[in-house]
Amino acid sequence: MRRIYNYLNPLNYLGIRKYSVRFPILFSLLVVFLSEYYSYNIAHDPLAVGKYIIFINAASVIYFSFRNAIKGGLITTFIAILYYLYIIYTRNYEGNALISGIFTTVYLGILFSFIAVSIGFLKQTIDKLIDNEADEKKRLQTIIDQLPVGIIVTDMKGKITHANNQIKKLLGKEINKDLKSEIYTTPEATISGKVIKADEWPLLYTLNTGKSFYKKEILLENENGQNFFLHISSSIIKNKAEMPVAAATIYEDVTVQKEIENRKDDFINMASHELKTPITSIKLYTDSLYSNLRKTLDSKNLKSLKSIRYQTEQLQNLVYDLLDVSKIQTGKLNFEKIKFNLRDLISDAVSEIQKTTQKHKIVFKGKSRRIYVMADKFRIYQVITNILTNAVKYSPDGGNILVRLKIINGKTEVSVEDTGIGIDRDKQSKIFDKLYQVSDPKEKTFPGLGMGLYISKEIIKKHKGKIWVTSKKNKGSTFFFSLPVDKQKKLEEKN
Ligand code: ADP
Repeated sequence: MRRIYNYLNPLNYLGIRKYSVRFPILFSLLVVFLSEYYSYNIAHDPLAVGKYIIFINAASVIYFSFRNAIKGGLITTFIAILYYLYIIYTRNYEGNALISGIFTTVYLGILFSFIAVSIGFLKQTIDKLIDNEADEKKRLQTIIDQLPVGIIVTDMKGKITHANNQIKKLLGKEINKDLKSEIYTTPEATISGKVIKADEWPLLYTLNTGKSFYKKEILLENENGQNFFLHISSSIIKNKAEMPVAAATIYEDVTVQKEIENRKDDFINMASHELKTPITSIKLYTDSLYSNLRKTLDSKNLKSLKSIRYQTEQLQNLVYDLLDVSKIQTGKLNFEKIKFNLRDLISDAVSEIQKTTQKHKIVFKGKSRRIYVMADKFRIYQVITNILTNAVKYSPDGGNILVRLKIINGKTEVSVEDTGIGIDRDKQSKIFDKLYQVSDPKEKTFPGLGMGLYISKEIIKKHKGKIWVTSKKNKGSTFFFSLPVDKQKKLEEKN
């Protein structure tokens, strides 16, 4: 029964652009046959078919032009007109009746054809639109399937409209499009060791709040017990009228990168600890040699000793940086906060770094202010000297370096402005990442490992402060950091 209904329902043929005329022909012939049978065998009157047949034919033309397009409508019209002519011929119409019969047939022929063409054309246009959309969907699905990341697209109610093969691999199961919540809520998924609740899943969060996620890191144990580190991003898709119509989530498998990163961290950890003791001894012995032999050595040997001492110091700094990175990694970077005057600390750092260069003039503006902060003095000094060292290092042609100290919105703000090589806009956010160095050929000539700013950022973050940069390539950079001022006493005193 259902099959017959499906076969007859013209809506089931929308979007299918194959137009057969077999059924319209068979049906029209059946109508002709039954009409003839009725006229002669049941009504016993050759004229009995009368007006009814016109209604039946009109209905058939409408039905078949909607079901089988122009072709279906026209073939039904054609058979109907042939039958009318057959009636005129076999019922021996004469005189006025014959003229009116032919006139009616021509009139109905035109009317039926018009109906067939207009409804058929409408149907064909709808089919084309549906077909194009299906094509577009298919193309999109093929592209999505080829992507190396997992993708889920849902409507605004959370019902899945697209999902690719990668997502099945990551979740370890087929995605049931009707079980919308099931795929978002895998109880084994964690962020930094914390199990994620259903509404914390990026896609659900985005659907509920309209907010986007970018590369949220999640550890997922899938149905097959496999562990994946995923970066999940999700956002709302809007239509032309800027109305939200769908949401998309991208699952990026970063397990391999994560493993490499972990191995790199382990190596840094091990190397820095192994190097710390010997380098400290070398430094101590060199210092002691230097103070013992400073006055007795001839100038050539003294120069060599000074050079050994300087290089040892550089090496020691490098090892300390490595140790700091490994401490950050393991959450062991500790701070001893005391209250101190930031102005004096900056002054010290400025004169210390000024000693290392003659090409640059470091100018400290803000000396008239005493600003107290509650912070780890040694670590803040490390941040300032790192930024100042960079300003010197990355201004190879020399020039002025301006250091400012201000209070803005209840926070101290320190800035260091140089006129050096500058940093491309797209790299500005990355320079605070671990071991990141701008890698264009010009920059490659500068020594360094890309640890200083990463350590500085962590230090400032742990002091509830902020660190950032503004820069223009080939014009210079200004590095800023802000810290909360100590609120217990006077915030700012004028000298
Ligand atoms: P590095 O040891 O390489 O100097 P940092 O973490 O201190 O490491 O800096 C990271 C990168 O940021 C550097 O490699 C450099 O490309 C860029 N950078 C830092 N400070 C400056 C500056 N003042 N001017 C231009 N580029 C800078």
